[in-house]
Amino acid sequence: MTNKIIVAIDGYSSCGKSTIAKALAKYAGYTYVDTGAMYRAIGLYTLRHNLTEPADIIAALPQIQVGFILIDGAQHVTLNGADVESQIRTLEVGNCASRISQIKEVRAFLVAQQQRMGDDKGIVMDGRDIGTVVFPNAELKLFLTASPEVRAQRRFDELVEKGEKPDYDAVLADVNDRDYRDTHRAESPLRQAEDAIVVDNSHLTREEQMKVIYDLFDRHK
Ligand code: C5P
Repeated sequence: MTNKIIVAIDGYSSCGKSTIAKALAKYAGYTYVDTGAMYRAIGLYTLRHNLTEPADIIAALPQIQVGFILIDGAQHVTLNGADVESQIRTLEVGNCASRISQIKEVRAFLVAQQQRMGDDKGIVMDGRDIGTVVFPNAELKLFLTASPEVRAQRRFDELVEKGEKPDYDAVLADVNDRDYRDTHRAESPLRQAEDAIVVDNSHLTREEQMKVIYDLFDRHK
């Protein structure tokens, strides 16, 4: 029997982290955890309750429960028991998640929950601080990158697929803003762990990229 490991996947927004993490979890027979969805769920709560001040958001944390359920094999995030998967995937909620994720207490609240999810290993978790803060001892750490233009195009295509009518320049500006906020915030800024393996997928097909990642996993497990 092989030992189960923890795979930490970090990287910029819209660089395909969740697609890769989901595929790897399936390949490995591991649990996948999308931590961005957890920040988005809290973002959605603050939008619904018109909470903008950090002190009010911190005070509301005991009333917020974030979890996951499986629906037809797909992971959906829940907010106080309700499936909010489709409501959290908007630019507005993404931007709100990026703002509330700068609050130290919000991070501590979610990091504690994420660490508990890794107690039995056998987990693929993606986010911004997984290899640096949540699981600094993860056996395999991947840091994904792609150029802002490539990521903006992917995000644009996703929004079109959902029936939205995005403006490419606005999506690119949003990608750049979010990168800036994610890398410059005081609390757990996005940075590459020293022992992370960098995968730049700007010019890789999905198949090429997955081959690289499955090979890395097979060598680390
Ligand atoms: O990955 P996703 O775009 O869904 O994440 C939404 C926002 O949540 C990000 O822009 C980032 O600011 C924040 N986040 C974070 N730490 C994580 C995951 C996401 O700060 N581990």
